[in-house]
Amino acid sequence: MWIWPVILFSVIPLAPRGPEARTFTTFDPATSLEVIPYSPYVDSITDLVSFDSVGAYILRLQNFQTRYSFTDSVIQASEWISAKFQSFGYDSVYFQTFPHPENPSSIQRNVVCVKPGLITPQEVIVIGGHYDSVVYGAGANPYVWAPGADDNGSGTSGVLETARVLANIPTDRTIIFVAFAAEEQGLYGSETYADWAASQGMDILLMINMDMIGYEKDFVWFVAIEGNYASRSEIDLAAEIADLYTSLIPQVSYTTAPYSDHWPFLANGYHALMLEESDFNYNNWHRNTDIIDSLRIPYAAQVVELATGLALWIANRPDPPTDLSATPGPSSGSILLTYTPPPQPDVEGYEITYRQGGTTDTLITSDTSVVIEGLQPGVPVVLKARAFDALGFYSVPSDSVIATPTQVAEGPVLPSPSLRFESPRPGVLLFAGPVGTRGSLTVYDISGRQKIHTTFTLKQTRTVVPLRLKQGVYFAIWDVGTQILRTKVVVIQR
Ligand SMILES: [Zn+2]
Repeated sequence: MWIWPVILFSVIPLAPRGPEARTFTTFDPATSLEVIPYSPYVDSITDLVSFDSVGAYILRLQNFQTRYSFTDSVIQASEWISAKFQSFGYDSVYFQTFPHPENPSSIQRNVVCVKPGLITPQEVIVIGGHYDSVVYGAGANPYVWAPGADDNGSGTSGVLETARVLANIPTDRTIIFVAFAAEEQGLYGSETYADWAASQGMDILLMINMDMIGYEKDFVWFVAIEGNYASRSEIDLAAEIADLYTSLIPQVSYTTAPYSDHWPFLANGYHALMLEESDFNYNNWHRNTDIIDSLRIPYAAQVVELATGLALWIANRPDPPTDLSATPGPSSGSILLTYTPPPQPDVEGYEITYRQGGTTDTLITSDTSVVIEGLQPGVPVVLKARAFDALGFYSVPSDSVIATPTQVAEGPVLPSPSLRFESPRPGVLLFAGPVGTRGSLTVYDISGRQKIHTTFTLKQTRTVVPLRLKQGVYFAIWDVGTQILRTKVVVIQR
């Protein structure tokens, strides 16, 4: 976590603009842009996160004494991180080097580890966190002691642990793990990487930043998930994953500021978010006392489970179906929906969501052409679809399409030639039509006074109803909801 030097941007005195400026709301699943079902597969992977590993990595990073950007020991830390990545079995681990902008003779190293995707390797998820540290204040000498256990040994540990857990898990898309250098002087490592990625045209679907994930003051385990509004879908997805697979209580913010490594990715137009402790570690932040003893390692491990689950989702979820086309269907109250399947070979089916008026319904199908029935004829319906695969990953929803269901006279709720309503002989009414036809019958006398009003359902195809009325001439109206039939009824007293 970098202190944003807001004083450079404004001559008006402002409140401190570190993380304390953040405002979060507890995530409300009812407003989520992404609702996902529980997946036993995802749970089995996130459960592989070990708080022993997370704690051991933080302790090892602290034991470098300092990881201040201009020291020898930050170089040693980069070597150790690189060796850890390789020990997990990754072939592609390298340093991205750059001169420190404030001291160009100091060469900085981002540590990069690439896990290639198996289906669409050109699509990338970046998981990152900075590994440098700093201390300020009385008695602080960052060249000697800057333990940075929480800031950001914890996030670096999270990057390492997600890399360890996912090492042998096949993913459709590429995941790139990056431990960033020189964050504390101004996000230089992440800026170097994000600018380079953008210059290469790299297709980064999401950058997940972990910065200060180790401190919780009590046993109510909030987690802060923050990004910009463009990344709202992914922020909501992260919150859903926190709810489903961890004991964390997600708090979300769709605004953020340039105080950590997600920012350069947002600045390059990528979607990005930061995971961070929600009770901010004020007392030890950038202090000599930012040591592992002040942290709650099982809490940190929960945040790492969240990062792992989120990366797994983004790296494996199918693309949504495309080219949705909705047209009136073959029968009354129906719509024909067709779409093009996504490229992933393991797609098993589609969840169609359709909304008519205030009613929303879903339908599961394995076909790319489906007739949706039982809709109200003539009333527009909004439809969208998402794909799901054999492991239980769902795509994002497709774009919506609108269609109006076929309006054809047929079926039990509509009058048709097969439905009859007549007075075949004096004193009785005859209803003929499919069993189950519902309607209401109202009979008026010749002066317009209502004599009978009743609702009924046809229990057989022909129903004869005697009318207990005085002799005379009446008018009967049969209302079946969409059409009104009238007949003249004559009652003759015997
Ligand atoms: Zn910091």
